[in-house]
Amino acid sequence: MIKDYMRKDLLDFKPYHAPLMNYDIKLDANENPYAHSPYVLEKIKLWIDEEKDHLTRYPDTDVHELRQKLGTYHGVSENEIICTVGSDQLIELIIKVFVEPGDGVLVPNPSFSMYGLSTQLNHGKVINYELDDAFDYDYDLILKAYEDHKPKLIFICTPNNPTGNKASLEGMKRILDHVNCPVIIDEAYEEFDGDSMVPFIPNYNNLIVLKTFSKAYGIAGLRIGYGIASKEMIEVVNIAKPPYNLSAFSQAVATFILEDLDYYNDLIHKINNEKEHLYQFFLGRDCFERVYPSKANFILVKITDMNLITYLQSHNVLIRGFGDQGRLAYHMRVTIGTDDENSRLIALIKAYEA
Ligand code: PMP
Repeated sequence: MIKDYMRKDLLDFKPYHAPLMNYDIKLDANENPYAHSPYVLEKIKLWIDEEKDHLTRYPDTDVHELRQKLGTYHGVSENEIICTVGSDQLIELIIKVFVEPGDGVLVPNPSFSMYGLSTQLNHGKVINYELDDAFDYDYDLILKAYEDHKPKLIFICTPNNPTGNKASLEGMKRILDHVNCPVIIDEAYEEFDGDSMVPFIPNYNNLIVLKTFSKAYGIAGLRIGYGIASKEMIEVVNIAKPPYNLSAFSQAVATFILEDLDYYNDLIHKINNEKEHLYQFFLGRDCFERVYPSKANFILVKITDMNLITYLQSHNVLIRGFGDQGRLAYHMRVTIGTDDENSRLIALIKAYEA
């Protein structure tokens, strides 16, 4: 049995699971549902047509052009940026360079599962800190957990996936001021309606901000994430970066997107308007026990029975359910789709209630 050779601590490990299912409407993974800009699509065609070396040669392992453009956009230097295969890879690299076997990593609950999974895979010890009843951050509790466990890393996700609420700038600064370890602020959804900690990077040597092109910028399929932090921090995280991690195509498309940001900012605006529309529809519905306000591109709701999820799936609408156990029992997360997709979702929920 191959399992006999395996690391014993991984025998019960439950890896990240994202089953491929048929769908007409995909509202389960917080992607951007809209088409790319004509400018970006045209640049992609030219990139494919014009240059044979693009495909045969290794890509720029240091991702210079994209890092320069990101630096200009965020008002930091290229040396304060690292680009990775999705922010998932960055989470992994950070844990690899800071966590030794048995070291503690403070992780919010409920939140994005990869913090815990990467910690376990890299021999760290996951220490959950609980969000409060409204899923808000409790900074006293984080500081107490820090004092009790002296972790090597602290994760904060804002706006938080899957709850949609954001951490306060004051709260995050309090943590950064107090602790003596790197603090990772995951801003995967910040473009929608968050408050960025990027302007405070010069003040905090222990701050790492995580960003991604998978959500607001619509290239989840190309897997680009990046981190912004002090030059010293980026140098350390770079130690674990595999060579040529980002494909030439991914690097190119991300730079095209940065050249046409107005288009993407309009989409973000549109998604936020649609979110408000859906939120108002969700409020007070019989099949929803609680609806959480959201600063991201999704809405979390507590449902009264689990059949709604199977009902939506049977109509080829995918949403993310969280089962009937734990703090997210009977909750589902709905990604904001296009106007048309949201209208079809609304019609289905009305039909379900009738
Ligand atoms: N952080 C958060 C909070 C997320 O929700 C996700 C994706 N679901 C990621 C990071 C990873 O995104 P990616 O690897 O596509 O950049």
